[in-house]
Amino acid sequence: MIVIMTVIRKAFKFRLDPTTEQAQQMVEFAGANRFVWNKALALNLSRLENKQALLWYFELVFWLGLWKQSEEYAFLKAVHSQPLQQTLKDLSRAFSDAFDKTQPLKRIPRFKKKGAGGGAAGGAGGGARDSFRYPQGCKLDEKANRVYLPKIGWVKYRNSRQVIGDIKNMTVSRKGGHWCVSIQTEYEAQTSPHPSTSMVAIDLGVNRFATLSDGSYLEPLNIFKQLQEKLAFAQRRLSKKVKFSANWKKQKKKIARLYERIANARHDFLHKASTLISKNHAMVVVEDLKVRNMSKSAKGDLANPGRNVKAKSGLNRSILDQGWGMFIQMLQYKQTWLGGEVIKVNPQHTSQTCPECHHVSKDNRTAQSRFKCVECGYTENADLVGALNVLARGHRVLACGVETLVLTMKQEPLGSSDTRPILAA
Ligand SMILES: [Zn+2]
Repeated sequence: MIVIMTVIRKAFKFRLDPTTEQAQQMVEFAGANRFVWNKALALNLSRLENKQALLWYFELVFWLGLWKQSEEYAFLKAVHSQPLQQTLKDLSRAFSDAFDKTQPLKRIPRFKKKGAGGGAAGGAGGGARDSFRYPQGCKLDEKANRVYLPKIGWVKYRNSRQVIGDIKNMTVSRKGGHWCVSIQTEYEAQTSPHPSTSMVAIDLGVNRFATLSDGSYLEPLNIFKQLQEKLAFAQRRLSKKVKFSANWKKQKKKIARLYERIANARHDFLHKASTLISKNHAMVVVEDLKVRNMSKSAKGDLANPGRNVKAKSGLNRSILDQGWGMFIQMLQYKQTWLGGEVIKVNPQHTSQTCPECHHVSKDNRTAQSRFKCVECGYTENADLVGALNVLARGHRVLACGVETLVLTMKQEPLGSSDTRPILAA
């Protein structure tokens, strides 16, 4: 089989949590950037008017050096030089695009205003907000949730998704009242782009292994139940045998084999399930298990005894608990391979928030499997509600996480009767 490898370029956007001092520096950097853009643009526009040749990147960089040396524009020295040069590169590109006859929609670059600059129509760096870009020198420390921006230092960010590939550049921009970083990467993958363009969210649960935001779900395989019963039986028998006797040892071996069978069945199940989801969806949003384990009650499963959830799900749960982490890992590498992605979101209150009116209440969860909003009366399968809320959070992550954003979900209303298992149990 011939596998064609393609280079995939991707941008990963995160919200930054700079210190007051760092935020001030960012304001200065963005301001200097805007200044350099406008200054160089004015220079070129006057040359155009006087029918003189335009200044291109290397000439503009020379001019930048002169401005820096002048007393008037000494503030430019406080800013890292590379983002400023990037701006000049963008301006040069915008000018060459503007005169490119094959691209009729391009316009002459425009001046940038504070907070909402004009820039080139569609031109790189001509975005509609304060920003500056580093072509190199940035570092990413995912474990400590921080990025290194030259001359600003290590800045905390809200780590919501794994960054895949080699970092090519980083752009810092302001959106509303906060700062975001967009990390541009490149990596090789099997196909490009992902065969699908859809986005789906997954709610991981006990009764259903996984519920998808499109209404489909995965049930744990029956073989788990059978093997668990066998295991429980075998363990009872072991307890009745004389320790270290020949029979006891034999029984011990039997139990070890059962564990192995369960592990194999689970591995097989997780592989099938992750392949199925990965093939069909370019973006997969999941709950961040690290956060979820810290706040187990948020899920409401065991905290809400309802119908002896605890007794029913004991072993099943422990088996699946270990499985969830593995499942997400598998999803992650399969998505990377296919050119898709996995996004992790904060799982808090996903089971208690109403997807319709966004009312958050424990009372919204009447029984283990039913959700009924005490505010607006919206009723749905509880696991599906979890998945819909996870999906909404995924959308917010892609938009650089505006916390107050109204959740917009253009989902068809799904009765629980519409849901169907997508992997035969
Ligand atoms: Zn509601």
